[in-house]
Amino acid sequence: MKKQIATIGLEMHCELKSNSKVFSSAKNAYSEIPNSCIAPVDMAFPGTLPILNKKCVEDALKMSIALNCKQPKYMYFDRKNYYYPDLPKGYQITQMTEPVGIDGKIEIEVDSKLIPVYIHDIHLEEDAASLDHFFDTSNIDYNRAGVPLLELVTEPCLHTADEAVAFLEHMRRVYKYCDVSEADTKKGQIRCDVNVSISDEDATELGTKVEIKNINSFGGVYDAIVYEIKRQIKLKENGRYDEVEQETRRWDEESGTTVHMRSKVDAVDYKYFVEPNIPKFKISENWLTDIKKSIPRLHLERKQDYINNFGLSDYDAEILVKDKDIADYFEECLKLEVDAKSAANWIITQILGYINKYDLCINDLYLIPRRLKDLIVETNKGTISSKQAKEIFFKVIEEKKEVKDFISKDNAQISDRDELIKIIEEILNNSQAQIEEYKSGKTNVFDYFVGQVMKNTRGKANPVLTKEILNNKLNN
Ligand code: ADP
Ligand code: MG
Repeated sequence: MKKQIATIGLEMHCELKSNSKVFSSAKNAYSEIPNSCIAPVDMAFPGTLPILNKKCVEDALKMSIALNCKQPKYMYFDRKNYYYPDLPKGYQITQMTEPVGIDGKIEIEVDSKLIPVYIHDIHLEEDAASLDHFFDTSNIDYNRAGVPLLELVTEPCLHTADEAVAFLEHMRRVYKYCDVSEADTKKGQIRCDVNVSISDEDATELGTKVEIKNINSFGGVYDAIVYEIKRQIKLKENGRYDEVEQETRRWDEESGTTVHMRSKVDAVDYKYFVEPNIPKFKISENWLTDIKKSIPRLHLERKQDYINNFGLSDYDAEILVKDKDIADYFEECLKLEVDAKSAANWIITQILGYINKYDLCINDLYLIPRRLKDLIVETNKGTISSKQAKEIFFKVIEEKKEVKDFISKDNAQISDRDELIKIIEEILNNSQAQIEEYKSGKTNVFDYFVGQVMKNTRGKANPVLTKEILNNKLNN
């Protein structure tokens, strides 16, 4: 059998952040109490009409722009008709004919290499209610009904489970950087359908695709793809490729397999038509320009900037751009002209360590970039040792004071060269015996001299400078 290439296309659903739902005034929030965030529209009571949430439209356009998609001239919606208990209206309001974005392209990083991902479209729709199944009953919770959802559909352009997950991770960050979603898989805010096919290496056409629906973790996506590729290759090896049919399967976490749900011949005809209750409206150029301005620099661009223009390692840059607030903090330091590497080191070791330990947000940290700058400047000047700097770091945060409040004459490090030379000369003048020993080859006597300097200065002598001066005096 010829070498096989796998091809993957993803459909990623992501719940948007907003105060109210996409077509009703009910709160868009997660609640433990079923049916506590609902309005008559979400329940499809007769006579109720949807009202489109402007913020959701703006956020959808924001993502469309961020993915380099084309935006339509007009905005309108379609009805996708089907019956299910979690869909009280009997249809979902979605966008079929004019999605908020089409034909996009982005680059993502996989194993330190950039690869393109082509976006078929991105569209705004409403989420369905959720069903809780018990032993002999099922409950419907309408809290999720009408929650704004963005569905992003890629072209079949990915080829490995690693690439697929890298794309999802990339997108999760774009959603967060653009501040349109918390994009938290643990809260079920991201759900994916995965399409997988295999074909001969030199084939000009793609193979038959199998869809695996509704996977709610990236680990699940990874495992499902790996499993499905193996399953299809095995069938092909055994001359049974005709058994790979256009079907919808589901990922069964427990058995680690994909399981048949329905085949394409059973596919529902959704009888799409334009949603008549939401008037079509124009998307003006001015509006798009304003939305575009609200998109921050995204993580990959920042990462490349930090590596290429500020000399950071790939590893450090990656840590800084993981979270937009951290990256913003770092950039604030750069604006204050703090040395990039020092700032990165402090953020990665001390600050992240501290905020993770106490589960804080970097924006709530009392040690704002200006204070970090003070700390770094004083350390570089030698007023304080790096050990002292770490102590002061905690004191500033815990006592909510300034760095200078912890630098007194008493504890300031002695970094004045002339002052140190004076102290050292005095010690050497009284240490003839030790100098003889040192000169006769007992080089460990050097530490004795350092110790004497420290003793004399109560540990405040700048150790680097002390060693340098001692070296000069003893060896020249
Ligand atoms: P459908 O008509 O079943 O909705 P589409 O062609 O619209 O199928 O594609 C749906 C998803 O399937 C997209 O993410 C697309 O990239 C992916 N896809 C399409 N063809 C293939 C294929 N041969 N192999 C893998 N994925 C595919
Ligand atoms: Mg959909």
